[in-house]
Amino acid sequence: MSPFTPSQQTSAMLAVVWTRNRDLLLHRLDTIDAFSRQLPGSASDQELRSQASGDAHKLAGSLGMFGLSAGTAVARDIEHRLNDSTPDELLAADIPKLAGNLRALIEAFQVHVEEPAPERRRRLLIVENVPHIAQGIFTAAEKRGIEPRIAADLSAARQALQAEAFDVLVLDLATATLNLKSMGEDHADQVRDLVLSRAPMQVLALTSVDTFEDRVIAAQVGAHGFLPRTVPFTEIVDTCEHLLDLQAAQFKVLTLDDDPTVLGAIKVILEQHAIRVTSLSDPRLFWNALEETTPDLVILDLEMPNFSGLELCRAIRSDSQWNRMPVLFLSVNSDAQTVTSIFSAGADDFVPKPIIDIELSTRVRNRLDRDRLYRTLSDYDQLTNVRNRRSSNVVIANYLRLAERHALPVSLVLVDLDKFKRVNDTYGHQAGDDVLTYLGGLLQQSFRSEDVVARWGGEEFVIAMFAMRRGDAIERVAYVLERLEEHEFEPSAGTRFRVSFSAGLAEFPDDGKDLHTLYRLADEALYRAKAAGGRRIYAVEPEESAARSHTDVAIVSPNVAVSAPLRRLLEMRGYSVDLYQKAEDAIQELAGAGSHLRARSVILDEFPGSTTADMVQRLRRESSEPVPAIFLLVSGESSADPALEGLERVAKPCKSALLVQRIRRALAR
Ligand code: GH3
Ligand code: MG
Ligand code: MG
Repeated sequence: MSPFTPSQQTSAMLAVVWTRNRDLLLHRLDTIDAFSRQLPGSASDQELRSQASGDAHKLAGSLGMFGLSAGTAVARDIEHRLNDSTPDELLAADIPKLAGNLRALIEAFQVHVEEPAPERRRRLLIVENVPHIAQGIFTAAEKRGIEPRIAADLSAARQALQAEAFDVLVLDLATATLNLKSMGEDHADQVRDLVLSRAPMQVLALTSVDTFEDRVIAAQVGAHGFLPRTVPFTEIVDTCEHLLDLQAAQFKVLTLDDDPTVLGAIKVILEQHAIRVTSLSDPRLFWNALEETTPDLVILDLEMPNFSGLELCRAIRSDSQWNRMPVLFLSVNSDAQTVTSIFSAGADDFVPKPIIDIELSTRVRNRLDRDRLYRTLSDYDQLTNVRNRRSSNVVIANYLRLAERHALPVSLVLVDLDKFKRVNDTYGHQAGDDVLTYLGGLLQQSFRSEDVVARWGGEEFVIAMFAMRRGDAIERVAYVLERLEEHEFEPSAGTRFRVSFSAGLAEFPDDGKDLHTLYRLADEALYRAKAAGGRRIYAVEPEESAARSHTDVAIVSPNVAVSAPLRRLLEMRGYSVDLYQKAEDAIQELAGAGSHLRARSVILDEFPGSTTADMVQRLRRESSEPVPAIFLLVSGESSADPALEGLERVAKPCKSALLVQRIRRALAR
């Protein structure tokens, strides 16, 4: 099969599009026929000539797409003659005969549907110099129906890639002569060139140790994923398949062309390559469609009535939201002047009409892959303007080294929006994006410039706070959570919603000494925070507290208006809280049947008469070690009961930061 024939599936689909559009195409001959009937007068009728040449132009653009290149040639011939000839030349050219030929070609034509080719197996190139690893991956891949090949070094890999195409590359970074010491810019560039030489191709890097340095290298060479090379071979192959699925599902393209036939064909071709296509024939709807579909790439027709694709392209390039969008042009003309004007309007690429399946799909994929690579290689996340994962990795790694040298702590916090999928489902993806952008801005404002704020994935943010212990770090994150919960999003007039997040915190060096460990532990804490209902920040649990069955804080108050906000304040910061409305219940529960008290601290509100004082006495009498810290909530004219002497007093209404600080101090004792 020549590389330029459409795949069997594509040709079958094209055949359907052809049948559906054949009459429309024949209709395009009507203006040319009208011109022919009115000869010789029409040879001098500019309007008739230009109408007929416009339709010939469209025919030229669409016929080749279906494989009727002879038709394209005739249509283009007619177009040129109608445009460029003097009336005398035009009379001599015998347009009626050419039009008749063209009609006959269209009427007789059928899209050739090939016999189904045997399904092509997906191909894997393994760049690995350790024989048993290479062989292990090889065998695991074969079992999955993937066709593997092994290259033992970089130059063998280069040869293999020149000879044939692969869908996935498993690249052992050590084999690619990359290790931490020899890794210079040059090496990374060489490997990246190799990786790009056969795009689209998914790349999985194998690292010897799972450290962030290796991850950085993996990102530098353009890998789409990485794994330590010690994981089971089946897992490596699983990941390859996963990467292929991701590649297949991800991209969206918006096409604008005034010719529905071209739109139909592009859709068929690209969807065969698992790219989602939105077709648009009215340029006036372009900006709306852009916002609704948020495509990864735009395909524009150069010539459209009343509207120039070039103008649209310039407008895209000068729009702050969309200026990075890859733009690809389709054009029947591919003379130097046309191509120059396309590129100088800011387009990324240009595909000549008639469109050839493989050419269009390859160019689109290449552009999409390169764009994705570019985005992963740039330092900031486009949506939220905070650092991206790769660049934050590098900065955090530096912080950890610096902190180590100066014996300082670093707090690493993982923030994940609660029930965010529901926001998307209920209010739309754009509303979801707005939430992410807002949170990114809030985080950026709320932390010091030396802190690192980054988006590590969908709705997950990471903050690294230099020289900051967990208590203060939690306080800072709680502040952000409070601000976020206060904010009302309004996706459309009258519709409002609020969001919250959960967070997990790990502290260097107490909880872990490298980013990977800290991240894993913070993630575990985050998981516990979600399990407890979300909207809260949990730190890694010190071992003794994991085993402890005590509640951190018991709040005893007859007044829910006092206790509920206090509870929220404390739970948000990761404390476990019990609420008691009746003094007697509190005594029963907290002191048990003479057992030791089941709360580490008690916040006691004022009860009428002597109840408060009685309760303090009983708590002291009936609880064994450790005696809980008791905080007394007092308002202005509080009694000077001698039983309450010596207790810590907190004035109502409570100043949150102060109270939290005192509780923390008490619990640390
Ligand atoms: P949980 O409280 O357990 O975190 O639930 P969740 O719904 O937040 O978490 P889940 O991981 O199930 O879903 C995350 C969702 O985030 C899925 C996806 O639709 C959404 N998401 C990821 N990235 C983006 C993005 O860039 N924009 C928008 N709008 N949504 C995104
Ligand atoms: Mg979430
Ligand atoms: Mg999530």
